[in-house]
Amino acid sequence: MIMKKIAFLGLGNMGGPMAANLVKAGFSVTAFDPSESALAQAVENGCTRADSAQQAAQGADAVISMLPSGDAVKGLYLGARGLLQALDTSTLVIDSSTIAANDARQLIAAAGERGIRAIDAPVSGGTAAAAAGSLSFMCGGEAADVDAARPVLEAMGANIFHAGPAGAGQMAKICNNMLLAIHMIGTSEALQLGVDNGLDPKVLSDIMKASSGGNWSLEKYNPYPGVMDGVPASRDYSGGFSVALMLKDLGLAMDTAAGSASSTPLGALAKNLYQLHGGDDDNRALDFSSIQNLFRRPAGD
Ligand code: NAD
Repeated sequence: MIMKKIAFLGLGNMGGPMAANLVKAGFSVTAFDPSESALAQAVENGCTRADSAQQAAQGADAVISMLPSGDAVKGLYLGARGLLQALDTSTLVIDSSTIAANDARQLIAAAGERGIRAIDAPVSGGTAAAAAGSLSFMCGGEAADVDAARPVLEAMGANIFHAGPAGAGQMAKICNNMLLAIHMIGTSEALQLGVDNGLDPKVLSDIMKASSGGNWSLEKYNPYPGVMDGVPASRDYSGGFSVALMLKDLGLAMDTAAGSASSTPLGALAKNLYQLHGGDDDNRALDFSSIQNLFRRPAGD
């Protein structure tokens, strides 16, 4: 079946540009977000406005959700008044929010009970990749359902992986984000050590990029202000992947590690450092590369 009509729910930092790319690729996108400003921006980008999730999903071939948390996802789909009750059995549900694997399994099982196909498809790449249409999707669910979602996902991403059964996409996502937190902190700490000892952060970044310290945080998302254009560090750490969301992912990783009795000492330390940094409410809203500020010294020191 050819997918043409998409309902897009959750048009924040990630969902907004993802929906815009679907419009550019020729899909007809109906959008809903309780935030008036997010919805207005989506309409400006070519989406059709809906006043509720139910209205957006009417006649949709696929519903994509990009919400902040597992509770938000369960609140949207499950229960007597949940969206699953209103969906036609031909609709494919694609949840791209980062949530606990167990929550994803619960959603997919509840959809299955109603004869509705559903997959978890969290993303990696951040807001820049969402805008460029170069996200990585990590999917969990039946292979046939992932294949059915592929043409839609390809309009928003460059890599579509099938990680395994329901919840496997979420599992891959939290392993990735735990590693991301660890190398972001390591990168910030190394850059600060250099700066504190007279090195130019740009020169040091160039050296480490071409050396064995090279990594994604350093190369694509440099946390030191003034080193790289177009990243959150170049705009006071605004408009990226918030400290609050990184803390959510590290919490999911630690819960998972507890469940499998896995040893994740660096993940635990990363969560601890982000908790320290995010203890200040203003910091929680900043992009996660602002962890650099934990190491920076006040001017004049
Ligand atoms: P965001 O807070 O900017 O956007 C979330 C949007 O969902 C908000 O506009 C909110 O109003 C809306 N929303 C909440 N409940 C809703 C509902 N019931 N129906 C419709 N809309 C609803 O968050 P974001 O940065 O876009 O992240 C979204 C998801 O993507 C999160 O799960 C996050 O962990 C994940 N993620 C984010 C990034 C990133 O770089 N920002 C990267 C990868 C994954």
